[in-house]
Amino acid sequence: MKLATFRRGGVHPDDKKALSKEMKLERLPLPAELVVSMSQHLGAPAQLARKKGDEVRKGDVIGTASGYISSDVHSPVDGVIKEIRKVRVQSGALADAAVIECSAQQSDPWTERHDWKSMPQEELLTLIRSMGIVGMGGATFPTAVKFTVPMGKAVDALVINGVECEPYLTSDYRTMIERADEVLEGVMVAAAAVKPERIIIGIEANKMDAAELLEAKASEKGYPIAVQPLRMKYPQGDEKQLLKATIGREVPSGKLPLDVGAVVCNIGTCYALYEAAVFHKPLVERVITVSGESISQPRNIIAPIGTRFSDLIAYCGGEKDDLVSLVAGGPMMGFAVADEDTPMVKGSGGLLALPLMIDDYTAPCVLCGKCVQHCPMGLMPNRMFRNIKYGNYQAAMDLGLMDCKECGCCAYTCPSHLPLVQGFKLGKKMGRKKK
Ligand code: SF4
Ligand code: SF4
Repeated sequence: MKLATFRRGGVHPDDKKALSKEMKLERLPLPAELVVSMSQHLGAPAQLARKKGDEVRKGDVIGTASGYISSDVHSPVDGVIKEIRKVRVQSGALADAAVIECSAQQSDPWTERHDWKSMPQEELLTLIRSMGIVGMGGATFPTAVKFTVPMGKAVDALVINGVECEPYLTSDYRTMIERADEVLEGVMVAAAAVKPERIIIGIEANKMDAAELLEAKASEKGYPIAVQPLRMKYPQGDEKQLLKATIGREVPSGKLPLDVGAVVCNIGTCYALYEAAVFHKPLVERVITVSGESISQPRNIIAPIGTRFSDLIAYCGGEKDDLVSLVAGGPMMGFAVADEDTPMVKGSGGLLALPLMIDDYTAPCVLCGKCVQHCPMGLMPNRMFRNIKYGNYQAAMDLGLMDCKECGCCAYTCPSHLPLVQGFKLGKKMGRKKK
């Protein structure tokens, strides 16, 4: 079978998925309390709609979207708001949060099935918005906004992202294997919202069993869905690289997939869309992979949003003595987490406990050119980094800094272990400020 991929740049890190690939989805016993942040999505944080002492029911809106690019936040449990305070979320940002004490008895409000198929497109988009669905592959862009096709534009291709190219992470893989029927129905919900001419699911070759399963089930159900197996290559899960690999389209600098007639939606998001459309269940829980060489028992866990990382670690038997860093997300694009009490948000697909794997020694740039060769955006990371190092932010911007996806391919291949991505994050911030 022909395996497609994108052409320019990319790297092949050890996928490390064997650690958790066979670990079936399991539900975390409900923690005593949850810390539900108002900053769970790209765009403006939600505005707190409840106060200390309020009783909340599962699915109640506790934070309301504060703009077009924003999203409602719902209570994942029945309980009482014990405290309102600031928390630091995994990205490092400070946000308002509701600390909810969970009741001993929990209701089950999402059992009745609804008929989404007869809903007009507008109504379906309104439902998706009101359920607080955001992209669960990490970007957390509000899904209803992404699915709203502006006048004059048309969507020809809906591309479903089943790539999960970050090492260690297997939450989407387990979702595809164990929830295939629901994921496919979620894909059809997405299709009803954007009305594409074709639907393609891109899945990398290290998940061929999932690709075969989805293909067989889609054909059994008569869904017009094609499954495209892809060669393993990082960062194929990025929208731009995925579109190049699956439909051969290049998204120009500064443009969006919509500008080339495409919409991309991740597997976890499709499952959330299924629950939203069929049960009117808001996005209040997700699958998270807890893995890494320094966790006692890697697992794929279904946990409510707001679960503290410390509760997940305890459920996995605790950390090993050689733990050096905790990373929220994957090792390439994730965030180092200083506090184990950091709460899960809608974009938390992974939590990694890692031992010391690379030394933190950095040498000068030896001009080997590897970073340039592997950059999927065709940038010159070495030159951008040098400019940022000496405060020449505009020069770095002129070299295309704002097109950098922060994918980490350059840093991964750099023999001098230069902190390239950290440099680019800083350069963007300073460049914007100067502007
Ligand atoms: S982090 Fe930026 S510069 Fe480095 S490879 Fe990725 S896109 Fe290119
Ligand atoms: S990979 Fe590292 S050492 Fe090589 S050119 Fe790029 S920044 Fe310099």
